[in-house]
Amino acid sequence: MNRLVVFGLIALLFFANVPESSASETDQQKIYQERIDLFSKMEAITQIPWYYFAAIDQYERSVRRVRKDIPKETGLIGIYIKPEIWSGAINPDLSDTNPLSIQIFGGIGVDGNGDGIADQTNDEDVLYTIANHLLDYGFDRDNIKLALWDYYKRDKSVSLIMGKVKMYETYGTLDLDKHAFPVPLRYNYSYKNTWGSARGWGGRRMHEGTDIFAGYGTPVRATSYGIVEMKGWNRFGGWRIGIRDINNTYHYFAHLNGFADGIKVGRVVEPGMIIGSVGSSGYGPPGTSGKFPPHLHYGMYKDNGKTEWSFDPFPHLKSWERGERQRRK
Ligand SMILES: [Zn+2]
Repeated sequence: MNRLVVFGLIALLFFANVPESSASETDQQKIYQERIDLFSKMEAITQIPWYYFAAIDQYERSVRRVRKDIPKETGLIGIYIKPEIWSGAINPDLSDTNPLSIQIFGGIGVDGNGDGIADQTNDEDVLYTIANHLLDYGFDRDNIKLALWDYYKRDKSVSLIMGKVKMYETYGTLDLDKHAFPVPLRYNYSYKNTWGSARGWGGRRMHEGTDIFAGYGTPVRATSYGIVEMKGWNRFGGWRIGIRDINNTYHYFAHLNGFADGIKVGRVVEPGMIIGSVGSSGYGPPGTSGKFPPHLHYGMYKDNGKTEWSFDPFPHLKSWERGERQRRK
């Protein structure tokens, strides 16, 4: 093969890839649209605003994707209702689709699409079953919170869902999965993969995060859409902020010099928004700083509906940094 042919083949391979990647973006938008349509339909039937359905659905989808004891999602909706809850614990048929016998055995499954059967694998039936549970308590925020607590029996699950409610209500879209690098790329900074190594500062615990070294006052930015879940002082982390995103991931920023104006618990943030600045706070009572070189400690934690664990942020930081570099070109 001569060089021109080789070049042509490479070019073909390269360009052949482009429509595919933009097609998957289109597919994702199509899925968002279909989900919004379903949530809006449910809002019209029940008078419960669509973003409650969106929030419960997204909470459950994120849980399912990291749990091995729950079957993977198959439909448009991520909500999983256990067969014994759907059909009723004493129902001999855990795959019961008869609304009447389900009701007799104390199950919650109902028919949402009007075909006469209550199918636990049908998106509309599942969503209407959840809506029906909420309707038992009432339409307003406090009653919905109560309904959620009775269903999940876990404060954390309720607060994660309510955080998503606020995010969806604020932005009016399901498309909240964009990211930014925590430090503006034009600043001087450096970081490397230190996952699992001994902590640089204090304690013998494994280092749960990535340290991004940068000068005092370098802006620190939110890396995702999210809700400020925690803000304040901790003896080790100094001034720190925790932000919960739409996928149940918690983004932790520590050793800050200070916080940006208006950043407070419950506030909705978006990728790239300045939340504070790099410092060296920590390892003492509030206000202690300067015991180590200034850097941002960045950690990521995932909630799976039962517990929360940390995972390595380094590959994500690399990918967000690369993404921003590409967008700037
Ligand atoms: Zn660190």
